[in-house]
Amino acid sequence: MNETRKHILAESEIPRQWYNIQADMPNKLAPSLHPGTKQPITAEDLSSIFPLELIKQEVSQERWIDIPDEVMEKYRIWRPTPLIRAVALERALDTPAKIYYKYEGTSPAGSHKVNTAIPQAYYNKIAGIKNLTTETGAGQWGSSLSLACSFYDMACTVYMVKVSYQQKPYRRSFMQIYGADVIPSPSEKTEAGRNLLAIDPNSNGSLGIAISEAVEVAMSNRDTNYALGSVMNHVILHQTIIGLEVKKQLEKIGDYPDVVVGACGGGSNFSGIAFPFLQDKFMGTKVRAVAVEPTACPTLTRGVFAYDYGDLGKLTPLSKMYTLGSSFMPSGIHAGGLRYHGESPLVSQLYHDGFIEAQAFNQRETFEAAILFSKTEGIVPAPEAAHAIRGAIVEALKAKESGESKTILFCLSGHGHFDMGAYDQYLAGNLVDVRCDEEEIQRNIAKLPQI
Ligand SMILES: *Cc1c(COP(=O)(O)O)cnc(C)c1O
Repeated sequence: MNETRKHILAESEIPRQWYNIQADMPNKLAPSLHPGTKQPITAEDLSSIFPLELIKQEVSQERWIDIPDEVMEKYRIWRPTPLIRAVALERALDTPAKIYYKYEGTSPAGSHKVNTAIPQAYYNKIAGIKNLTTETGAGQWGSSLSLACSFYDMACTVYMVKVSYQQKPYRRSFMQIYGADVIPSPSEKTEAGRNLLAIDPNSNGSLGIAISEAVEVAMSNRDTNYALGSVMNHVILHQTIIGLEVKKQLEKIGDYPDVVVGACGGGSNFSGIAFPFLQDKFMGTKVRAVAVEPTACPTLTRGVFAYDYGDLGKLTPLSKMYTLGSSFMPSGIHAGGLRYHGESPLVSQLYHDGFIEAQAFNQRETFEAAILFSKTEGIVPAPEAAHAIRGAIVEALKAKESGESKTILFCLSGHGHFDMGAYDQYLAGNLVDVRCDEEEIQRNIAKLPQI
């Protein structure tokens, strides 16, 4: 019991490069297509909303990409993040398994999303961009980008899904502290927003519609670009800093995971922790990677692998990914960051090729896991991160049943300090499990574009 519990690296040990899995994955990605012409998208097409450096990263086949010094300087505010052995949780579960979690909630905005917000703002800044637009669901991404924009002295406009805007006023205040302009979506400010409000004036909003609004504004203003908090290849590239740090931390103690678990919305924190281990898996190492999603938005477990739009307004490129259809409206579960109809093309291809597994859990069982984790390990997790905890607990209980000792690693992607409304509802017994019915899934999948 005298074993080191918290594994920390020195600042000088922070990885200096991100890992690009595109260099190593056996089957390459299908090209993204222009939403109008349906032809493969060009750098030129993307340049109206993204800076050249990020477009290059999006399609790069280089295995290692240098992290700029200016980004390293900001990373050093909170990185490296701790890797913690969950000994109290292990004891509570009476499992022979070892459970480690990588805690990304130590970032100034409270989640892993700052890992990509900072390089995205930086590359836009050096390209001469003055304003970034984006969407936010639970508020984690909006907070991270607001922070990054204030670091680089840029303006930030955040379209916040209306139901979150109403449920989470403190998230809104948090973004405003960093100087962001926060607008509830759907709004009257964009054509996409006005079109939707004409059909459904009481719309709660969704990530799909908020993306349309943010992209529309970026496309129609020269000094304005758009930034996405998940899904895209460059976002996932930036998040690999998580898994690269874990590898160094585990190497020092001579351990290696049998299974890596992450909550999966657009796929960025899961990829961030898992992809550096998949690099080993491509070479024959036995390691499982498990993506955990909500039953209310079961993209990997019940969606289809097909070309689809990233947004409701069909402004974004078409990507080949697992999707429930861009018109799918997930119910208002509290893990707002997991309510997205699509999935990262990288995660999708690797899931399709059998390198990744997926599991879906109900809302209440994830909150149960969150409460047990809070009481044992002390950290109150974000509802999204609670999905990873549930996934890790299920693995630990399997180990208990079979009596095998195994090493489980999961990403604790953020803290839940802004999610007390959700916890209140859970504690009052008001949270319900939502399972979407097959008919609704099929209805939206039938509307997928024919490619
Ligand atoms: C946004 C978010 C997620 C889900 O997004 P991914 O891109 O799948 O990582 C998970 N956890 C937290 C804390 C988040 O903020």
